[in-house]
Amino acid sequence: PRLLDDEEGGVVFLSSSLSSASSIGYGYASIEKQRQRLPVYKYRTAILYLVETHATTIIVGETGSGKTTQIPQYLKEAGWADGGRVIACTQPRRLAVQAVASRVAEEMGVKVGEEVGYTIRFEDFTNKVRHLSSYLSIFGVIIFVMHAGISSLAVQDLTAIKFLTDGVLLREMMDDPLLTKYSVIMVDEAHERSISTDILLGLLKKIQRCRSDLRLIISSATIEAKSMSAFFHARKGRRGLEGVELVPRLEPAILSVEGRGFNVQIHYVEEPVSDYVQAAVSTVLLIHDKEPPGDILVFLTGQDDIDATIQLLTEEARTSKKNSSGLIILPLYSGLSRAEQEQVFSPTPRGKRKVVISTNIAETSLTLEGIVYVVDSGFSKQRFYNPISDIENLVVAPISKASARQRAGRAGRVRPGKCYRLYTEEYFVKEIPAEGIPEMQRSNLVSCVIQLKALGIDNILGFDWPASPPPEAMIRALEVLYSLGVLDDDAKLTSPTGFQVAEIPLSIWVSGRGAQKELDEAKLRFAAAEKKVIEIREQLRRIAQRIGIVMKSCESDMQVVRKAVTAGFFANACYSEAYSQSGMYKTVRGSQEVYIHPSSVLFRVNPKWVIYHSLVSTDRQYMRNVISIDPSWLLEVAPHFYQQHRLNPIH
Ligand code: ADP
Ligand code: MG
Repeated sequence: PRLLDDEEGGVVFLSSSLSSASSIGYGYASIEKQRQRLPVYKYRTAILYLVETHATTIIVGETGSGKTTQIPQYLKEAGWADGGRVIACTQPRRLAVQAVASRVAEEMGVKVGEEVGYTIRFEDFTNKVRHLSSYLSIFGVIIFVMHAGISSLAVQDLTAIKFLTDGVLLREMMDDPLLTKYSVIMVDEAHERSISTDILLGLLKKIQRCRSDLRLIISSATIEAKSMSAFFHARKGRRGLEGVELVPRLEPAILSVEGRGFNVQIHYVEEPVSDYVQAAVSTVLLIHDKEPPGDILVFLTGQDDIDATIQLLTEEARTSKKNSSGLIILPLYSGLSRAEQEQVFSPTPRGKRKVVISTNIAETSLTLEGIVYVVDSGFSKQRFYNPISDIENLVVAPISKASARQRAGRAGRVRPGKCYRLYTEEYFVKEIPAEGIPEMQRSNLVSCVIQLKALGIDNILGFDWPASPPPEAMIRALEVLYSLGVLDDDAKLTSPTGFQVAEIPLSIWVSGRGAQKELDEAKLRFAAAEKKVIEIREQLRRIAQRIGIVMKSCESDMQVVRKAVTAGFFANACYSEAYSQSGMYKTVRGSQEVYIHPSSVLFRVNPKWVIYHSLVSTDRQYMRNVISIDPSWLLEVAPHFYQQHRLNPIH
């Protein structure tokens, strides 16, 4: 793409209120010094005072100012973890949970799993369970049984600070609805408004009524602090308390941490680009050729385009006549191995330039030191749900202005930087929305409904949401759950099926983040995946045992497995029209045109009937993770559903 030069105008300066303080010499300072240099350090006393005196504290601060890594440590230092209590900090993303936990452990001079732990789905690195799994690997099952017996008597949770995904915290509520072991819960990255964050906020507000000792911190890089505050302040049934000084105060405190980002110059392309992978590659090479040292962060949408970009960039860098030696090209997305994560965070060797090609995760969740140039494709992968056709799609869609500003801000961490937007200024000004839509309002709500029902919240439409989900989506979810036999005629969880389903940390109906990541991980490190599968299987086995499901082998009869998948995903059935040569399928519901993704082993096989796990939109709607089925199974596993929808293709 042709980028505007500095002199040509079209340059916008961000963050005018932020000062251009002298460059910070990270790398050599002791950890304690580094901690004290972070912007939140100045607010340490204020934060602790507000948390002490307010039920809810809302903290807004620039990415990198130290919210996630420092605030939990301040709380611990102030005694919030004394007496076996735990400080929790939630993140929407698994990778962020792991990265932040290891950073904080390093700062505190402990190992992850000791005072600092983390829990993500299928991975518990808090004190208690670490012992359990190490015993397991060494002595095998007998010791496990002994240990389980002892543990119920003696194991003390020594973890003081625990990082976890918001989804995992929701799940913990099933065993402990008031989350009694936590003294402070910090809901981080709240601006992302992930579906789990929103459910969590609604539930935490309820918990606060019963637990005046619990403190909440809502933190994020950019948040509508006023509306969040209004949400926590508006309470039903609290009349008669006006004018009474309560400790803690119910009105949320709002604290804004002044950052110290440097100016970032924004460059736009003159003409719209048709291929952002190619455009990103050219831009990186241009920066490398023309600009002084400093690392580059490229924002793309997912593993597919990141891998494509890395391949193209590696090729072009090799064949380019310009100076392109010294580039270290690294991907950043969920599912990276620990070693790959470490490479991304490790300091760039002298004389080299790091290029990190990332998903949205580097927008606010993770801080990379040394980034001076940002290349912004203008897109991210987003979930969209159409309740009419009941189709949920992962779509590459334009980001919001707020996201674009955050992305640009990443270039100003260590010194003044530059952001190259692969879209025109006119497009930025006129076309893209100011803010994103909360995920709650563009998702399939099946697993959300199960979780709330399991927590005893029956009036789901009347639940106190930070942002109400569309009623059609709610009705759709109830309908599917009813057909699955998870809900009964009164929309209550059935016993035992409904309760069992709610206990199992697999949401077999919902596409999107969780499952896709598991898959990416498995693909990425096949050797390690096998071990992981065994671990996950073991966890699921334990849960099954606890809730009284009898495990039975399918004795290598794959039909049983396919039928089981059909029982869960019957709503995702598709058929190819007779004599259709084009590979086109239609969804049974809504008759949408869909195609098998070329990466599928069934791509050229084209079975007549299939069930997919998720849909991805690019030039077409592609089905990912597909199995072939026998259509008679549909009537067998979901008679209500298929009669209700009067599906003519099945006779
Ligand atoms: P915030 O949550 O406000 O965005 P963080 O607490 O995540 O900020 O990060 C604060 C600072 O800690 C970062 O600017 C960086 O200097 C340092 N830091 C965080 N994570 C890492 C890491 N994995 N490796 C090295 N430094 C890190
Ligand atoms: Mg953070």
